[in-house]
Amino acid sequence: MSLPSSVDIAIIGAGAAGLGAANALKDSGLSVIVLEARMRVGGRGYTIMAAPDITFDVGCGWLHSADQNSFADIAGQLNFAIDKTRPPWREQSFDTGFPLAQRIDFIKALDAFYDRAEEAAKSGRDFAASTYLEPGNRWNPMIDAISTYVNGTELDQVSIQDMDAYEDTGINWRVRRGYGALMAAYGAHCPLALNTEVTLIDHSGKRVRIETSRGTLIARKVIVTVPTNLIANESIRFHPALPAKVEAARGLPLGLADKVMLALEEPEALPKDGNLRGATMRTAMGSFHLRPFGQPCIEGFFGGSFAQQLEDTGGGALAAEAIDEIVTLLGSDFRRKLKPLAESRWAHDPFARGSYSHALPGHAGKRAVLAAPIDGRLFFAGEATSPNFFSTAHGARDSGERAAGEVVALATK
Ligand SMILES: Cc1cc2nc3c(=O)[nH]c(=O)nc-3n(C[C@H](O)[C@H](O)[C@H](O)COP(=O)(O)OP(=O)(O)OC[C@H]3O[C@@H](n4cnc5c(N)ncnc54)[C@H](O)[C@@H]3O)c2cc1C
Repeated sequence: MSLPSSVDIAIIGAGAAGLGAANALKDSGLSVIVLEARMRVGGRGYTIMAAPDITFDVGCGWLHSADQNSFADIAGQLNFAIDKTRPPWREQSFDTGFPLAQRIDFIKALDAFYDRAEEAAKSGRDFAASTYLEPGNRWNPMIDAISTYVNGTELDQVSIQDMDAYEDTGINWRVRRGYGALMAAYGAHCPLALNTEVTLIDHSGKRVRIETSRGTLIARKVIVTVPTNLIANESIRFHPALPAKVEAARGLPLGLADKVMLALEEPEALPKDGNLRGATMRTAMGSFHLRPFGQPCIEGFFGGSFAQQLEDTGGGALAAEAIDEIVTLLGSDFRRKLKPLAESRWAHDPFARGSYSHALPGHAGKRAVLAAPIDGRLFFAGEATSPNFFSTAHGARDSGERAAGEVVALATK
């Protein structure tokens, strides 16, 4: 779409939040444009066909808290089938390297850690979640590994108040054709300007002036949905500057999670929707979903500083690490049976610079600071602004709808 010279509402970013806002404004009577830097919609929701028979969600894949997840209803409306197979995260296929007795012991230690952190959060004071690891517990490195998957970072970087605020109903579903594909369908009828990177939001005058890679436009109001790391490092700037927003974004950095997809020969040897943990006594390890949806593949997941280290090593490092870990567990035959298809590099992605937000210790209150509108003209959405579903796609979508509601409430006053 060509860039209009002026609109009522400019939405910056066509991820779940931006699309949530655009859909909510559809019948508002206001003119709307979504300005998106990439050549596609979905942001951190992105489905590719890694092979003709392998669907790969490079970003979000699970409808977390599925019974309260607004994308579950949207999937129904758009005829996207939902798979309700339970996630295998607490299993270890064939018991290999991690027998049942050890798994029970580990889950006990993990749950006890969460209980201690939850109890501590009741004081209202904030500390790093790592404070509540039991000194000397053999499972501490693996509890930290779980944090790298869930938070994208190790527990010493995670606020217990933020951890406590997160709502998880424990129900997790998937979209068979891909979460990213669902988002793309959800955005299909939104007014979009792709390949349009916003560099400056000038709110010094009566109207907001937006500078982009494709020219300048004027808007009455703006909804900003870009990831926190881009506000924090000021790759998108405001004039006059908004130091409180930059500070809030810095308190809510994006952690890192990366995925790798491996094609699998002779897939019937492995269980459908099985699971393997690469190792049990260290934090730097992958987690492997065997044959997701029964597809002939293994999907690997890495998080935190280990994912960063693998990304920094260069393309192919995630696949090489995943294959080494799987071979250690299942035998050298698997070196021949596995072929790298695709891997993510979210930290190196200039329009994300990470995977999902966590609050640093002492910064849990920053989600509300980031979400607050400014001057009735600048509004903020995105997963990091969600009070209890942060770090998720549905939290992002709902935040976009919330920001759209704030805009409409003011427009009708
Ligand atoms: C590997 C991985 C696994 C995940 N797994 C899950 C999961 O299983 N379940 C779940 O619910 N969530 C998961 N998430 C998190 C989820 O994907 C995100 O929380 C959600 O998609 C964020 O949506 P958003 O709209 O807030 O941000 P984004 O999707 O990042 O959207 C922001 C948009 O702004 C655009 N943009 C950036 N800068 C500019 C600019 N200057 N000008 C114009 N446009 C700009 C970006 O290109 C992007 O499209 C995962 C994420 C990753 C990376």
